[in-house]
Amino acid sequence: MRRLLIFSFTCLNVFFALAQNKPLQIIMIGAHPDDCDIKAGGTAALFVAMGHHVKFLSVTNGDAGHQTQGGGMLAKRRIAETKEVAKRLGVSYDVLDNHDGELLPTLPIRMEIIRKIREWKADVVIAPRTNDYHPDHRYTGVLVQDAAFMVGVPNVAPDVEPLRKNPIFLYFQDNFKKPNPFQADIAVDITPVIDKKLAGLDAHQSQFYEWLPWIGNYEDEVPSDPAKHKEYLLNKRVQKPNPEVRKALEKWYGKEKADQIKYAEAFEICEYGSPASIEDIKRVFPMLGK
Ligand SMILES: [Zn+2]
Repeated sequence: MRRLLIFSFTCLNVFFALAQNKPLQIIMIGAHPDDCDIKAGGTAALFVAMGHHVKFLSVTNGDAGHQTQGGGMLAKRRIAETKEVAKRLGVSYDVLDNHDGELLPTLPIRMEIIRKIREWKADVVIAPRTNDYHPDHRYTGVLVQDAAFMVGVPNVAPDVEPLRKNPIFLYFQDNFKKPNPFQADIAVDITPVIDKKLAGLDAHQSQFYEWLPWIGNYEDEVPSDPAKHKEYLLNKRVQKPNPEVRKALEKWYGKEKADQIKYAEAFEICEYGSPASIEDIKRVFPMLGK
């Protein structure tokens, strides 16, 4: 019954999204072929269920993310994993051919990102903040900030038509405190699609069952039985909403509904995109609408 209700709800939402407006175009940009999935796989699944279009873009090809494999063979394996994610979540997934672990905020890569945002005709762009332990994450943050505004300048990358409106730019949630902590401006309830998010993570076999447990020294925690993988991913990789995110959930869903929410993904508004009022946020995050 619950499944049937969710299915009917999804069909209704798709109908309304398509009847009222054209689908929203969302691009999420991460440094590695699993970053967008970790930060916003649930939100992506909700957009897709409502008939909107989501692209994940990895700025590096992930060719350093393994303890025994590397180079072109690893990049190939990871691209295959992103194709599986695309199938499971219904997103489009692109991987740029830049080396993992060596990313720098260069002009050619900024141009690649400007072109990707324009080609997707993005309404919303989501990327990491520049406070992060991993240099590839920090520089992806810089590259996307440097692309904001420039996506509308016709003389920059003139081979791709510029956007007439700067998209809304947002940051993924992180836990870094210095120089300033993440601010949860938006929080999305992903409880109904948590299985989808986990299915997306599960497609990155090289990462969640091999590389990350090895580099994090917890290989012995990975269950050998694949039937236990989802539970493992849920415990290990899905963060419970912290007090700041709880506050944002109350703001967008009301206290009563927010108290029922088990899993959420949060976003901060970047000042370099189009200004985002409450009405603008409701328009581009229709799952928040009541
Ligand atoms: Zn990463």
